[in-house]
Amino acid sequence: MGASRYFAASIKPVSLKFMKVVDHIKQAKSTLFSIEILPPLKGKSIQSIFDGIDPLMEFKPSFVDVTYHREEYLYKKREGGYLEKVSIRKRPGTVGICAAIMNKYHVDAVPHIICGGFSKEETENALIDLHFLGIDNVLALRGDSIKTEPEFVPEPNGHAYAIDLVKQVKQMNHGKYMIDDLVDVAPTNFCIGVAGYPEKHFEAPNMVSDLRHLKAKIDAGAEYIVTQMFFDNAQYFDFVKKCREMDINVPIIPGLKILTTKRQATVLPKIFKIDIPQDMLEQIEKCKTDAEVKEVGIEWCIQQSKQLIKEKVPCLHYYTMGTSETTRRVASQVF
Ligand code: FAD
Repeated sequence: MGASRYFAASIKPVSLKFMKVVDHIKQAKSTLFSIEILPPLKGKSIQSIFDGIDPLMEFKPSFVDVTYHREEYLYKKREGGYLEKVSIRKRPGTVGICAAIMNKYHVDAVPHIICGGFSKEETENALIDLHFLGIDNVLALRGDSIKTEPEFVPEPNGHAYAIDLVKQVKQMNHGKYMIDDLVDVAPTNFCIGVAGYPEKHFEAPNMVSDLRHLKAKIDAGAEYIVTQMFFDNAQYFDFVKKCREMDINVPIIPGLKILTTKRQATVLPKIFKIDIPQDMLEQIEKCKTDAEVKEVGIEWCIQQSKQLIKEKVPCLHYYTMGTSETTRRVASQVF
């Protein structure tokens, strides 16, 4: 009796109101708060994810993005001095983390899906998993090249650009799977976001070319854009203006990163092909310790956030990079 009561209670449906990112934006009366997190390194527990999200829950994130990390190649020394090339994914778990977040916090999770490392069929199957889990948001990306390879190489029978991924998701939303003789097909219901680059994607020959490809992703069915990080709001405003001039009319969510160490002033431009504004750089150069740099970074981000809110951006999306303390300090001054 006790056991069956317990079972009945455990299967009682809970009323959860999950929404698409664009619906969050449509219903919002003011600028929303959202975050991006990274899966933990392989072997770490899900608790490390919760420990990062818990301190930010009081700011009511509308959604939590979870990045996807493709495989890397390592060379392991074997007996006789041979080197063996080993493929390893250091940060697996994106889908599981999304499901865990929705289950624990009742907040929408947005898994990043990438072209790299996936054939079209593997993508289709991954999307079916997400659909079955009730995850109706995805950020569709090409992904970068494997760290040890000079350029992005699509998987055999995989996608070369994010637009191809957008098209595949859109097809599934229309009930079109790769095998066309399926009967009683259940369409998926994904809201698709894509990436945009206020300072241009590094491979694009120029800004116009990059914007045309961005517009193509929207025309193919993407419903909103999340930007690469930027430290100069003028870059974002200029980007939005150029997008609107090209008839890109979807919400453009600014992505913000809090700079915390002196090293990041050179590493972030190298990795993400973005500029550190001269003003900010001068303040960083005056700092004697990283603790001081962190204070500069937090204050900079607070001012950036306040100005963006004043300009009524739809949402502020913070790249937490696995640490919540700095985002918490910014959010407490801004939301
Ligand atoms: P695309 O839109 O495919 O564009 C790539 C380049 O090709 C651009 O220069 C574009 O102008 C050009 N291009 C596009 N279409 C065509 C075409 N048809 N013909 C010729 N050129 C074309 N990476 C990860 O691995 N995992 C993540 O979780 C992740 N999350 C991210 C989140 C955000 C918000 C951002 C901004 C980036 C993220 N990235 C992630 C990095 C991203 O994968 C890289 O920046 C990648 O190099 C480009 O991805 P994309 O989706 O913008 O590609």
